[in-house]
Amino acid sequence: MRQFQHYIGGEFLDGSAQFESKNPATERVWAMMPEARAEDVNAAVDAAHAAFLSSEWAGMTATARGKLLFRLADLIAENAQVLAEIETRDTGKIIRETSAQIAYVAEYYRYYAGLADKIEGAHLPIDKPDMEVWLRREPVGVVAAIVPWNSQLFLSAVKIGPALAAGCTVVLKASEDAPAPMLEFARLFDQAGFPKGVLNVITGFGDTCGAVLTQHPKIDHIAFTGGPETARHIIRNSADNLASTSLELGGKSPFIVFEDADIESAVNAQISGIFAATGQSCVAGSRLIISHQIKDAFLARLKIKAEAIVIGAPDDMVTEVGPLCTESQVHRAVDLIDASKKAGAKVIAGGRPLDRAGHYFPPTIIDCSNAPEAPCVTSEFFGPVLSVLSFDTEAQALRIANDTAFGLASGVFTKDLARAHRLIRGIRAGIVWVNTYRAVSPMAPFGGTGLSGHGREGGLQAALDYTRTKAVWLRTSDDPIPDPFVMR
Ligand code: NAD
Repeated sequence: MRQFQHYIGGEFLDGSAQFESKNPATERVWAMMPEARAEDVNAAVDAAHAAFLSSEWAGMTATARGKLLFRLADLIAENAQVLAEIETRDTGKIIRETSAQIAYVAEYYRYYAGLADKIEGAHLPIDKPDMEVWLRREPVGVVAAIVPWNSQLFLSAVKIGPALAAGCTVVLKASEDAPAPMLEFARLFDQAGFPKGVLNVITGFGDTCGAVLTQHPKIDHIAFTGGPETARHIIRNSADNLASTSLELGGKSPFIVFEDADIESAVNAQISGIFAATGQSCVAGSRLIISHQIKDAFLARLKIKAEAIVIGAPDDMVTEVGPLCTESQVHRAVDLIDASKKAGAKVIAGGRPLDRAGHYFPPTIIDCSNAPEAPCVTSEFFGPVLSVLSFDTEAQALRIANDTAFGLASGVFTKDLARAHRLIRGIRAGIVWVNTYRAVSPMAPFGGTGLSGHGREGGLQAALDYTRTKAVWLRTSDDPIPDPFVMR
């Protein structure tokens, strides 16, 4: 049985307690994880705070910080397969996806490595004579980075990369549902040669670890990815330290297909848009909004493809859909489908858990055209469940797309360029993909609006968000400063 440890102040340490981690494909315990309670959290934050103030880190040039990040990126690329296997074992995410995603994670670190010495201040054309005024860009301080279990190496890279490029230090809390990939990542980080305490990796539960971390007086910024309910706790918990927050939350993203679309492309994009990562993806295109004119033909094609998906062991290269990460998600899927059927929705494919060991739930398509208020239309499920709605006019399509409290991603399939532009303007979301879906890049900001949160990850702005400006005023006159209380 594997035994993992925390990484605090450059040391590998046991937690105050331990807990078991199960392989979702077998439901068997495969590793013991350290559990951070208050004393471990405090030690991690103290280490990050000390590192932030240390001459080793604070005095390091931005170029040198960049070089360390490049070294880290190389280590990730060299060890991508090992990380992928561990992530697959702990989360159930299929090996095809973890291998490809982790290899690409290295590119995110490279992007931020290159940016480290391009974060510039500014000189201000001030309206006062004999004054020079400029802005320094300084790191915000100690960052609490909190991630959910899906795609943790990716979701942490878009926090750790820009934060370290900007000169911050970080305490990363890995998800208790599958912390192994992040604890293994800490080993590579250690080899990269950063000063001790610059990154600390812990794991634990929401109330006993996450809440202590986000309330800590030495935390300056909280970068959170997870669900909206947890985000509300975090905002309340940060009422004392008044840390700034960036929140990457859930989604219920519309996938709109017009009658003039390239149907085969749209079907393939929809299949990967909802069933990749077994649907456990914040940007999942979970609401298909389809033109009435092509609905029947499109659904028939989609059903054939969905039912042909290879469901199996996540560590098998032929598997296309693996198990869900936790058992509770399987129960949630059943409840969601049952409640949606009661509301009038009709299951077209899948719909019941598979009768085998492991948390397997098949690709599911559910027609909600007659049940637009069904729970599978209104609530994020975070699994392989696609709800279908239909429209007659473009205005109707847009209204349905925006009929959600979320606003993360969206997809539009049409060959009509003018229509595409109207939808790009009209859709309330942080990302619009036109005739494609799910594309990501280190250069492109990622994030949402409404219940999908605020703040952006990826791109140049994300690195600037880990800085604050300091306005510096320098008087250039040698004349004595006059007595302010003598009237002139
Ligand atoms: P979750 O909100 O339950 O947990 C996320 C993290 O928050 C975990 O590490 C958890 O331990 C921690 N946490 C829980 N309670 C806390 C508290 N009181 N204080 C501080 N931390 C606490 O989310 P989940 O169920 O693990 O993940 C699924 C959710 O994440 C979905 O809503 C999904 O859409 C979202 N997500 C969003 C993005 C994005 O980029 N927008 C990406 C992936 C996942």
